[in-house]
Amino acid sequence: MEQAGLELVAEFEERFSTEMGWEENVRKAVPYTPGEQPDKEGVVKLNTNECPYPPAPGVERMAARLEGDRMRLYPAFPEETELAREIARFYKIEREELFIGVGSDDVLSLAFMTFFQSGKPVFFPDITYSFYDVWADLYKIPYETKALDADFAIRKEDYMQPNGGIVFPNPNAPTGILMEIGQVEEIIAANKDVVVIVDEAYIDFGGTSCLPLIHKYDNLLVVQTFSKSRAMAGMRIGYAMGNRRLIKYLNDVKYSVNSYTLNYAALQLGAESVKDRAYFEESCGKIIRTRDTAEKRLTELGFVFPKSYGNFIFARHKKVAAEDIFRKLKENDIYVRWWNKKRIDNYLRITVGTDEQMERLYGALERICGQ
Ligand SMILES: *Cc1c(COP(=O)(O)O)cnc(C)c1O
Repeated sequence: MEQAGLELVAEFEERFSTEMGWEENVRKAVPYTPGEQPDKEGVVKLNTNECPYPPAPGVERMAARLEGDRMRLYPAFPEETELAREIARFYKIEREELFIGVGSDDVLSLAFMTFFQSGKPVFFPDITYSFYDVWADLYKIPYETKALDADFAIRKEDYMQPNGGIVFPNPNAPTGILMEIGQVEEIIAANKDVVVIVDEAYIDFGGTSCLPLIHKYDNLLVVQTFSKSRAMAGMRIGYAMGNRRLIKYLNDVKYSVNSYTLNYAALQLGAESVKDRAYFEESCGKIIRTRDTAEKRLTELGFVFPKSYGNFIFARHKKVAAEDIFRKLKENDIYVRWWNKKRIDNYLRITVGTDEQMERLYGALERICGQ
């Protein structure tokens, strides 16, 4: 820990040292650190919550039919595409209630830029998606983090004080804990003068979406993604749903940065994914079943964890340190996620893979954690 602290200070000093005259006036940012994308074969990759199954078969069929000639042209505006029509139909909303971006990271970043302008602090949990504080710092938005309770649950009361906006994932990441819909609504209802962003990146793995509430609350923005449940992280498609005035403001900012965001291939392939509801449901169902088994197996192996509603489990071993397990798994070409951060440094976030991948994980864990 001591050592890690010093390394961080050194990294900061190097990053923000100003040797050249012009460096004084540079926007300084500490970027988000994404999970590793190892460039080698045979890795059991359980570190970035990707889907272990391929996207819907229609997506690959369409990929083979993409036209080179269409690539000459700028792509269509996302809101005027089949992708937008299909998403709107899937969720039974109007197209004017939908914004599509380059992954939900793009959508969330634009939403921070658009809606968190009051100068008052934006609230989000202390343990959560670690991009939120990065965007807040980048856009110079003041923020306050609200500590999760001892069981890692979000305390809704913390979000009922004056603020400049609210954002949290539901289920939360990396804990996997789902906030019950009634509590989500209480937070939205108590904050009608600010925008409340609910990041539903993992909602398809057993949670209840707060989407229906967009017709009741004009301050609610629901953000979802194709990266997890739709197995299309590589295509970068994310979207937000909310009152049409919210969507209009988002589009105004987006078209002030870059008009042509989603590329031709993503637009075509994304539409094919949404058309195949049966495949989508089957694929989420398989992950939920594997997660159920993982809960049993990990418990037998001496792990404890909160009930997860994501495609991952946030687990701590009763005896063996998370960092040791993380390193030893990696030596065995099994990648999971571990953060050297206060409160969570004895936890591993393990993505739910295929049953075969999970068997390899359990085998390795037996060797690492078995007495
Ligand atoms: C994965 C994730 C996202 C962003 O995913 P994109 O690939 O950019 O769509 C957003 N929020 C949370 C909580 C996530 O875990």
